[in-house]
Amino acid sequence: MTGRKFTVQGTNNGFTCGHCGAEVRPLANGSVRNHCPVCLHSKHVDLQPGDRACTCHGDMVPVGVEQSGKKGWIIVHRCARCGFEGRNKAALDDPEQPDDWDALIKLSRPKL
Ligand SMILES: [Zn+2]
Ligand SMILES: [Zn+2]
Repeated sequence: MTGRKFTVQGTNNGFTCGHCGAEVRPLANGSVRNHCPVCLHSKHVDLQPGDRACTCHGDMVPVGVEQSGKKGWIIVHRCARCGFEGRNKAALDDPEQPDDWDALIKLSRPKL
């Protein structure tokens, strides 16, 4: 197939959360926001962070958090469709829409 063009949008656009419907704005510091600050869900759209090259588009469910000394809090996501696991830095210090601390803390508790 020839002549078919894909429109590649900037990766730092805001989006509407597919899980809770929150209007999510880009990070104030210019980094790519890849998860919802309200429910912490994400979408499986990246092969490499920010490239939007994955066609799975499954729901990335937050399954845990890790604390890394240098990077701060890392949210662990697992794709509900294909089982892919990814890690995303939490954006707790964003002045516009910081990640919900309570939602993050809930993830840090071990599930029984
Ligand atoms: Zn959400
Ligand atoms: Zn997936």
